[in-house]
This record gives sequence, structure tokens and C-alpha cells, in this order.
Amino acid sequence: MTARRVAIVTGGSRGIGASIAEALAKDGFDIAISYARNAAAADETVARITALGRTARAYRAGEGDGAARDMIEQVVRDFGRLDTLVCNAGIYPYARVQDMTVEQVDATLGLNVRAVMLETMAAVKHMKRGGRIILIGSVFGERAPFPGISLYSATKAALGGFVRGAARDLGPEGITINVIQPGPIDTDMNPANGEGADMLRGFLCVPEYGKPADIASMAAFLARPESDNITGAALNVDGGLAA
Ligand code: NDP
Repeated sequence: MTARRVAIVTGGSRGIGASIAEALAKDGFDIAISYARNAAAADETVARITALGRTARAYRAGEGDGAARDMIEQVVRDFGRLDTLVCNAGIYPYARVQDMTVEQVDATLGLNVRAVMLETMAAVKHMKRGGRIILIGSVFGERAPFPGISLYSATKAALGGFVRGAARDLGPEGITINVIQPGPIDTDMNPANGEGADMLRGFLCVPEYGKPADIASMAAFLARPESDNITGAALNVDGGLAA
């Protein structure tokens, strides 16, 4: 019998994270998701996963300094093990550098970078060979094609540096770490019919928004044993925005 496997998906209540959580559940993982405020959406994701015959549970993100790390420890206590961590939760501030606030800088670094590092640090302590860390960055980590995204781009670029360095640390333990860099994906954060959507389509080779499932397929692939040899990589699923 295949051993039970457990995955954590941060920001799994809606959008890309919810789609990743479901894809991993279809591949046989039991799932812990975190969310910020939207308990109803988190409950819906949990119900969809439970309907697939897997165990699922939602965790509201805490506020304190070590909250991201504490959430990982709580999940390991509840589920008994951890095989895959998907750091998906993120925010997308829009402000020119002339207008950015200290609060925006702290909040964006806090969730998009600091929490990712704390979660990874906690998760690898519990992972065995075959463990997987999958970060959700952005193609804006390597391209900034319009004004107002310097802060967001900086945080997503940081993930590329983090996975390259951490892959060196974790490789000998048989744990891989990669960042998926989506282009425009139709979610509440970036609706395909939103203001600016036509401009974004203009940057693409395939001139249509991607779907959350496009990112979920890549995440599911990275979580499988056949991706054992992929680590330290930034993988674009971006409609060709970076081309
Ligand atoms: P959404 O805004 O649609 O969803 C965000 C999710 O993150 C929600 O589940 C939300 O919970 C959760 N969340 C927010 N803050 C926290 C927190 N502090 N702790 C835990 N969970 C939190 O975003 P997307 O699905 O569009 O984006 C997901 C990731 O993909 C982000 O990292 C984003 O930067 C990245 N990305 C998205 C692109 C896009 O075009 N959509 C393009 C490139 C990258 P709640 O429901 O409670 O609010």
C-alpha cells in the first residue's frame, strides 16, 4: 500500500491555491490549507477535497511574528507528517515607488518573502527524502513590463534566489525546492475582465489569461516522484510573457 502523504497549501481558500489543493488531493494527498479572512471559501475548498475521499482541514493564518512557522508545526501535529509544502499565499500591491508606503513594504515582504522562508524552515525539519517545496512566484519576478509593480516584483524575484540557494542545502537530503512563475491567471486578484487585463494580454505570446488549473498541473507534477531531478528552478507558466 502506498504511504499516506500530506500537503500544505497556503492561501488555499480561493484562486490558484484552491486549484492546487484540489489537484494534489486528486493525486492522493491529504490537505491542509491556510487562509486569511474568508472562512466560507476555505470551508468550500475543504468540502470539495473531502468529497474526493481525502482528509482536509483549513487553518486561519495567525498574526504574530512566528505565525507562519507555528502553522506548519500545528499541521504536522494534526496530520502526523508532511511531504509537500506549497507556499502560494501572496498579495499584489500596486504603487509607484514614489507613492509606496512603509506599511505596504512591510506587509508585502512579510507575506510574499518572510512567511515563505519561515514556512520552508519549519517544513524541512519534518520532511523525508522525496519531500517537496513548491513556491508560487510570478513572472513579474523577472519582468516588470509596466509601472507600479516594483515592490511585488522584488518580492517575487527574491523567491528565485531563495530556491537556488535552498536547493543546494536540501539536495543532499532528497528534498527539492522550485518556484512556479505564473503569468496573468484569472482569479479575484487579477480577473480576466478587470481593469488592465487587455494591457496584460498584450504582453503575452498566447494572448489569453491562464486558468488556476494551469498552475495546479505544474504544482502537481512537481509534487510527483518523476520530478525528482528538478530543483532550484524557476518554471514559467506565463503564456509566454517572459519570451
Ligand atoms: P487571490 O487573491 O485570488 O487569492 C489569495 C489567497 O491567499 C486566498 O486564498 C487568501 O485567503 C490567501 N491569503 C491572503 N493573505 C493570506 C495570509 N496572510 N495567509 C494565508 N493566506 C492568505 O490570489 P491568486 O490565487 O491570484 O494568487 C495566488 C498566488 O499566485 C499569489 O502568490 C500571487 O502573487 C501569485 N500570482 C498570481 C497571478 C495572477 O495573475 N492571479 C500571477 C502571478 C502570480 P482569503 O480567501 O481568506 O482572502
